[in-house]
Amino acid sequence: MHAFEQYQARVTRAATLLGLTDAQVTRLMTPDRVIEKQLSVDLADGHHEFPAYRVQFNNARGPYKGGIRFHPAADLDEVKALAAMMAIKCAVVNIPLGGGKGGVTFDPRTYAKEDVHAVARAWARAFATDIGPDKDVPAPDVYTNSEIMDVMLAEYESVTGTKAPATFTGKSLGAGGLEGRDTATAMGGVYVLEAYLAERGIDHNDMKVAVHGFGNAGATVAMLLYDRGFKIVGIADSKTALISDEGLDPHVFHVAKERGESLIEAARDHVALEIGLPDEVLTMDTDVLVPAALDNVIAPGKGVAEELTAKVVLELANGPTTAEADAILRERKIDVIPDVLANAGGVAVSYLEWKQNQTETHKTREQVNTELKAIMTKAWSEVSQFAKEHNETYRDAAYALAITKILGAQT
Ligand code: GLU
Repeated sequence: MHAFEQYQARVTRAATLLGLTDAQVTRLMTPDRVIEKQLSVDLADGHHEFPAYRVQFNNARGPYKGGIRFHPAADLDEVKALAAMMAIKCAVVNIPLGGGKGGVTFDPRTYAKEDVHAVARAWARAFATDIGPDKDVPAPDVYTNSEIMDVMLAEYESVTGTKAPATFTGKSLGAGGLEGRDTATAMGGVYVLEAYLAERGIDHNDMKVAVHGFGNAGATVAMLLYDRGFKIVGIADSKTALISDEGLDPHVFHVAKERGESLIEAARDHVALEIGLPDEVLTMDTDVLVPAALDNVIAPGKGVAEELTAKVVLELANGPTTAEADAILRERKIDVIPDVLANAGGVAVSYLEWKQNQTETHKTREQVNTELKAIMTKAWSEVSQFAKEHNETYRDAAYALAITKILGAQT
């Protein structure tokens, strides 16, 4: 199944649960607008044309909202699915925003910073008339970050001749960003995991955690959970897994990666760990599994859904579990805290940043985290209660709740 078919499968399940009409289902499966462009850029190694996208899926609850990813595998189907999921995500955490997503089929890892900035400027120019604070508000996603948002905002403001920092969220502090946005996706996931464990009366001390992905979300969640007394038994970036029954200190590896070292280089002084391939952390012995990299890592055929040992999966990545794998995990009674809830802390804090830019107030990191905790805990209670009442998975509950809110707002 392609990414958008995965989304459709989830909506179909929720539609049955809610007894939706065909017209309502069609509404949920049809994007408002699909914009495709070709970015023409001169980079150090010559001229390039990169396919670029923005999908504005649904704005019934507020302006389109969602990140822009730079990835060699980004395509329209994936961006469309991610845009649809953003509408669900914003509704799950009760923020008045809709769903959008953007992308460029481009691998920033193989280019120097100046070249990546040139692509970012080209995206902002190409889509300048499609976005804006009350229309469509992009943010970072896979392989984009605050620096890229700053570059895009500057280009957008120069092209449109306006001053409009609320056009992008996830900016650096100097450009109108919000303290706490950098850690928000991971922090939101931690708050939801804590609420899940508290509801079950589970003490998290020394609970084993494996994290797949060591970018912003993965590295941050590993450090936050480590600081709270969880035992990080496995971490992995796109090249290497480090596994240790005794537990790893993710701060050490984060600092090393920030210095430009690889995980293998950073592991050289550590005797009590095994080095493996990234996907080994998915099926290793653990209590909690946090997929925090790309989509479709828990998929049938790879044996991961059948073999994973975790009791709970916290989806910090978007779309890490396929709809087919959902069925296997349901059967195996493994709880999945779905992406549209687990990683919604990022967009929840984007909403606070967007509001701050419009009101010119200032929030501290503590205030942001307090608000984030309230947003995530409320969303968790709603999803968990619905799941219990209807004997459904957390994913089905989250989709059903969000869809009810979206259709209720639809004119
Ligand atoms: N890219 C993030 C996501 O997938 C954040 C989106 C945003 O802040 O708008 O949720």
